[in-house]
Amino acid sequence: MSDNHHKVIIIGSGPAGFTAALYTGRANLNPVIFEGMQPGGQLTITTEVENFPGFENGIQGPALMDVMRKQAERFGAKSIYKEVTEVDFSKRPFTIKSYDEVYTADAVIISTGASAKLLGIESESKYMGYGVSACATCDGFFFKNQKVIVVGGGDTAMEEANFLTKFASEVIVIHRRDEFRASKIMFDRVLKNPKVKLVTSKIIKEVLGKEENGRKTMTGVILEDTKDHSIQELQADGLFMAIGHKPNTDIFKNILDMDETGYLKVKPGTTHTNIDGVFAAGDVTDKVYRQAITAAGSGCMAAIDAERWLEM
Ligand SMILES: Cc1cc2nc3c(=O)[nH]c(=O)nc-3n(C[C@H](O)[C@H](O)[C@H](O)COP(=O)(O)OP(=O)(O)OC[C@H]3O[C@@H](n4cnc5c(N)ncnc54)[C@H](O)[C@@H]3O)c2cc1C
Repeated sequence: MSDNHHKVIIIGSGPAGFTAALYTGRANLNPVIFEGMQPGGQLTITTEVENFPGFENGIQGPALMDVMRKQAERFGAKSIYKEVTEVDFSKRPFTIKSYDEVYTADAVIISTGASAKLLGIESESKYMGYGVSACATCDGFFFKNQKVIVVGGGDTAMEEANFLTKFASEVIVIHRRDEFRASKIMFDRVLKNPKVKLVTSKIIKEVLGKEENGRKTMTGVILEDTKDHSIQELQADGLFMAIGHKPNTDIFKNILDMDETGYLKVKPGTTHTNIDGVFAAGDVTDKVYRQAITAAGSGCMAAIDAERWLEM
């Protein structure tokens, strides 16, 4: 076998990928991790993480991912800072390509995550983690008695808006259309919630903020009316994107079973995909929980599933 052959290749370096690397490393399988375009995964674009067990006082997202990488490296895991562009799972060993470089593996663990859909404006990235978030479950707690905006018009936006009223004093839902596509039950719940205000036919043009003593803080947004194009400023302490997620599964289309939204399907209670020897873990298979700890938990499952499968 060539130098590019590995017993286990892990695609994706978020909490699922690094946990799979830690476990397969400790099982002497010398895993190789393709880190992709976002080494360390989604947590590298946030600041404080307060809900990952083991860190009593919380930890910064990028620092948590550095620790996970180092812990996996301690047991022989090796990172390749490249993106996987093509896979061939039709024969063994499996083939994984990064542009014109070819690698092979006896088992593959896919942990390519999902990306929150964002507005795509520069100021949104500037204040990501400093008021702007894509995860109410993760960051809602930081907005006690503050005013926050939720962007979106579907069930996720309604759910996030309701959830945020547990902490925030006021939640404003901004939607670009004048009708909401959320289900009636979710929409009614929001209508009945006195802390939620709905604003329709508006898009966010810019996120406003300030920088004091080297610390950035979001202070509001500039809105544009989609009908008369009038501009208005809205003060707010937080901005939550709830316009959907996209699982990073384009390279697995027509190869692995997926649901209608592109999430990889696994056999219930396991990480086995429809191809023997290919496992999937983390947000790429999960549109319900989307948390670092659940991703890490399923990364552990994938490593154990892969190890047992390799021993068969
Ligand atoms: C702003 C924000 C704040 C958050 N805060 C919290 C929090 O406080 N607590 C919490 O529990 N959760 C939080 N989350 C959610 C948490 O980050 C995710 O649930 C978790 O990161 C999912 O882990 P994962 O390993 O499945 O994938 P991800 O973290 O999404 O990582 C995916 C990995 O796959 C790689 N990849 C993708 N495609 C390819 C490819 N073709 N080739 C190679 N590599 C590829 C990427 O580079 C990346 O390394 C937050 C999310 C966001 C966006």
